[in-house]
Amino acid sequence: MQEKEMVARQDVDVLIAGGGIAGSAAAAALAPLGLKVLIVEPGSAHGRRLAGELIHPPGINGLRELGLLDGELDLGAPVQGFAVFPFAGGEPVTDACESTVLLPYDESQGTGTHGQAIEHRLLKDHLLDTVQGFPGVTVWSGARVTEMEAGTKGGYTALVRTEEGEIRVDAKLMIGADGPMSQVRKMIGITHVTQRYSGMMGVEVDDIHLPHKGFGNIFLNPAGVSYAYGIGGGRARVMFEILKGADAKDSIQTHLNAFPPSFRRDVEAELAEGKPLAAANYCIIPAQSVKHNVALVGDARGCCHPLTASGITAAVKDALVLRDALREAKLDVPAALRQYSRVCARLQLTRRTLAEELREAFLAETPEALLLSQCIFSYWRSSPRGRVRSMALLSSLDSSIFSLAYQYGLVALQAFRLLPEWVRNHTLGAWHRGVLLFLYKSFKFQEAALRQRWRELGAYAE
Ligand SMILES: Cc1cc2nc3c(=O)[nH]c(=O)nc-3n(C[C@H](O)[C@H](O)[C@H](O)COP(=O)(O)OP(=O)(O)OC[C@H]3O[C@@H](n4cnc5c(N)ncnc54)[C@H](O)[C@@H]3O)c2cc1C
Repeated sequence: MQEKEMVARQDVDVLIAGGGIAGSAAAAALAPLGLKVLIVEPGSAHGRRLAGELIHPPGINGLRELGLLDGELDLGAPVQGFAVFPFAGGEPVTDACESTVLLPYDESQGTGTHGQAIEHRLLKDHLLDTVQGFPGVTVWSGARVTEMEAGTKGGYTALVRTEEGEIRVDAKLMIGADGPMSQVRKMIGITHVTQRYSGMMGVEVDDIHLPHKGFGNIFLNPAGVSYAYGIGGGRARVMFEILKGADAKDSIQTHLNAFPPSFRRDVEAELAEGKPLAAANYCIIPAQSVKHNVALVGDARGCCHPLTASGITAAVKDALVLRDALREAKLDVPAALRQYSRVCARLQLTRRTLAEELREAFLAETPEALLLSQCIFSYWRSSPRGRVRSMALLSSLDSSIFSLAYQYGLVALQAFRLLPEWVRNHTLGAWHRGVLLFLYKSFKFQEAALRQRWRELGAYAE
């Protein structure tokens, strides 16, 4: 008791646990509302880890709107969309990359629609340094939130461990921006479902032989997904997925075989020299995104397989949604958090469903998954509009579950186009099962969307 009484106190309007991308974006969004914001960031105890770098146009535009990126970006390298390499089925891959499908961002929206890939540490430091200069924002570096104490009225107070000792921080709004393994989420008792898919290893190489420069290259093969994209300064990031239980050496070899030869040689040389960075790929679905005066943002609010490279864009959207909700509710925190929770649930449903479906189509080894994957490529190859609409969903520009269900239906229709070829190489039974599964899933998405809308209407009526 004596010890507790000696703990210093601090009052702020908003406490943000975590000075990563989500934390910095949230601070930049809320400080201009006239709120006093404190970011608590421990700094990395685990050295450098692999994390997100490719940011889609809605994320880049959001960071600009928040004043965290300049109009003339001199960080990283521009990205025009995805270049997807289908599995070559063991056939040798050539430097010409003939089978690649390019999925550009929607050019009809004019200039300013490109994304950007920025080395993760550079991006994180840039955002935190920039937001530190905003009026009303304070950053405690080398500090961490160690406890969340429930108050008598239901709100939480945070205990922050700093180099000078423990400080109890009272805030109208607490934000958990402390990443996928969020301690804040755990401390306030929000449960979550988690699934670990795979590991990821990554290196940096010269971008001289990078295929489709200016695009995020995605290579699909039975060992998982690998990515390669420029990050500026003549450098490129390459990441390989290592599936659960797979041998890392064999997996890397399979990934390397999917690269065009000149690029493969660059990556092999780098792998022989350096120690790759690593990370784990999770799907985490928390039961709630808000509780009392606490809101979760970024990966703390949930994350999915990085196939769609949408984590940073989602974190920036969270910040914008929270800002708009607070503005609309005239800074009434409980009302704003109800609105935030509703919008986030909608955004997350589409993002997670899309990542799950693509992961299943490209990585599951069932005939149905193979049919779906062939349908997706057939759709992309035959429809320029389909490519743009798909990229709108992948980049979170379009976050409607109804759009996802509609696009899924158009993809499924390709099964009829593929029928003659499919019957030659596979069984008709597998085709039937595949088509029935697509129909079932298409209805499931619509149902999920309707349920979501129903819940929202219910919440509005409350
Ligand atoms: C291999 C891989 C590749 C990816 N590729 C992409 C991509 O290309 N594009 C994309 O958009 N997304 C990608 N992502 C996802 C992206 O990295 C994340 O969505 C994004 O970094 C989430 O940011 P965040 O701020 O929510 O969390 P984090 O970046 O995890 O930041 C959390 C912060 O909280 C701090 N913290 C932790 N505990 C405490 C505490 N107790 N108190 C206070 N602070 C605390 C940490 O020090 C950290 O700074 C990828 C993810 C992985 C794993």
